[in-house]
Amino acid sequence: MRTPLIAGNWKMNLTVPEGVALAEQIRQRFGVQEDVEVAVCPAFTALYSVGQALRGSTIKLGAQNVFWKEKGAYTGHIAPAMLSSLHCEYVILGHSETRGRFGQSEIEAELLGYFSETNASLKKKLEAILPYGLRPVLCVGETLAERESQKTDAVIQQQLSETLQAMEPDELRDLVVAYEPVWAIGTGQVCEADEANRVCGLIRSTLAHMHHTELSEVVRVLYGGSVKASNANSLLKQPEIDGALVGGASLDPEEFLQIIHAARTRKG
Ligand code: PEP
Repeated sequence: MRTPLIAGNWKMNLTVPEGVALAEQIRQRFGVQEDVEVAVCPAFTALYSVGQALRGSTIKLGAQNVFWKEKGAYTGHIAPAMLSSLHCEYVILGHSETRGRFGQSEIEAELLGYFSETNASLKKKLEAILPYGLRPVLCVGETLAERESQKTDAVIQQQLSETLQAMEPDELRDLVVAYEPVWAIGTGQVCEADEANRVCGLIRSTLAHMHHTELSEVVRVLYGGSVKASNANSLLKQPEIDGALVGGASLDPEEFLQIIHAARTRKG
């Protein structure tokens, strides 16, 4: 039985005091619960302070990105060892905003310039974090143009195969995959629960095909894209959806706690 994971992606929001205040509210109201795992992913600047605010709780800390090099002249980048020294457990990899997609299948040079992540660079990041015990939350998903031209499944299979190729099942035991249709992120346009379930199932069967059935049964597959308290129940009760990656709604403690509650009661 896979424990559901609800991860909040705070994106480029909240100063350090604001992040600490939000973490404290979630901590107080979440208490200690073992039937659901919860993580928050603040901006790099707030990781240390939010980590301190969460000390002694079961709420995990995650980062929104990482660079694959150990150290060196890489101005503005953060190395895996830096995250592990802050007791980060999760790292989001390949969010559509760091892939530079912003809803587009063909990426304009101006937008690509932000981060320019590719499946190949994501593979390097994945391989770089595993020795530090950092757990990847690998985001995959199609743009609206790709969905409308019936390319959803092929895009996702390609993202998975190019990123995870030649890796051993044992290395991937802590992998979390998040299905995040690009057109649903931050738009209020949520993917239908049945369709999100179908694509999460496709992710699992792709992992089984590439690696091992046993691995595909332990890997958690999340849905992300405009998850809110009002749609969390229908999404989280789907058998292939093991939790949610939550953006905007994770900044509101009431909404976030209701989504956590939906994960806890999903089989009930
Ligand atoms: C995200 O940032 O991963 C996300 C899914 O955002 P939102 O919930 O705001 O759509």
